[in-house]
Amino acid sequence: MTYTIKGKTGEWELVIGLEVHCQMISNAKLFSQSSTQFGSEPNNNVSFFDAAFPGILPVMNEKCVEQAVKTGFGLNATINKFSQFDRKNYFYADLPSGYQITQLYHPIVTDGFIDITDDQGEPKRVRVNRLHIEQDAGKSIHDRHPHKTYIDLNRAGVGLMEIVSEPDIRSPEEAGQYLRKLRAIVRFLETCDGNMDEGSMRCDANVSVRKVGEEGYRTRAEVKNVNSVRFVMQAIEIEANRQIEIYENGGTVKQETRLFDADLGETRSMRSKEFAHDYRYYPDPDLPPLVLTDEYIEKLRANLPELPDIKKKKYVEELNIPEYDASILVAEKETSKYFDEAAKGRDAKKVSNWIIGDLFALLKEEGVHISKSPITPENL
Ligand code: ADP
Ligand code: MG
Repeated sequence: MTYTIKGKTGEWELVIGLEVHCQMISNAKLFSQSSTQFGSEPNNNVSFFDAAFPGILPVMNEKCVEQAVKTGFGLNATINKFSQFDRKNYFYADLPSGYQITQLYHPIVTDGFIDITDDQGEPKRVRVNRLHIEQDAGKSIHDRHPHKTYIDLNRAGVGLMEIVSEPDIRSPEEAGQYLRKLRAIVRFLETCDGNMDEGSMRCDANVSVRKVGEEGYRTRAEVKNVNSVRFVMQAIEIEANRQIEIYENGGTVKQETRLFDADLGETRSMRSKEFAHDYRYYPDPDLPPLVLTDEYIEKLRANLPELPDIKKKKYVEELNIPEYDASILVAEKETSKYFDEAAKGRDAKKVSNWIIGDLFALLKEEGVHISKSPITPENL
């Protein structure tokens, strides 16, 4: 049996697609030289381009192209030698130019996948539709003043990778696995730090439900900007139950964007869903198409660090580490690095048990990350 929710009128299945925004690791922004330093004083990392002064032109940051291509490899995807930037037009106070530069028609990466296990522990492949490059927006701060909103443009123009899955995910647990796996991939590749609590990785969950056995998909709602894996899983379950209740009472689900309120345990309507044509997309006249050579792509491929899946396979096959333990060891780059060092010339299985058991328990108690462990790998 797959994951279902029992309603008054029968069993319901979930259909989920995730859109994940990952801030790229890069010292400078996507099209300007401003710093991307997190936690700087408000509006300290803002150039004339970021503030949309007229006549200032975008200059592509090559580091960001590299990060997108590397992540594309991590997603087992096609790297497109031709991609292009489009303007997505909308008005918002934290978007001074009135448009976001993104890639709608010709994304840099398409057709990838992430392998997870389903709720029965069977292998499952979630297809990734695309990864495209785009600018982040600034921040509007509403809670500092009773009737004013402050605007901080430090984040405006920071490079993002938007990674869009196909609607292949069928349960909150699968969504959690997909996100953790994606986070491990970007962390191993050092293309994004994956910190959801700092907002450098953000997830929108698209959720719809259908009767078990039903063909095709029903209308989806999009739950925006959920900031932890656990919250994404909760939000999906809550949203699915809301939709089921609507259908079972004879109603219809509206296509809309919703917000997740973790305290109240509910999703709330934010706005009705906009469509692509509302944004009047068109190719950015200030940016020529991005054309990559085979040499460039192959050089990046050749220098790719070992990915978590490959590392895990080695642990299982060569070191006899149980599957489950191996996935814990590769969930974070620092853990696998620590393990690699500690296991040198020792009984790998025992070392793994020590790390996952006693060391993790101690670190957790002290609130210390493994990269700062006072017990060094040699001294474990
Ligand atoms: P948009 O750009 O309007 O958000 P997309 O076609 O890019 O629309 O889809 C966005 C996300 O919604 C994708 O992750 C996709 O897998 C997911 N999705 C599409 N249709 C459904 C559906 N009926 N139920 C659940 N998720 C869906
Ligand atoms: Mg969307």
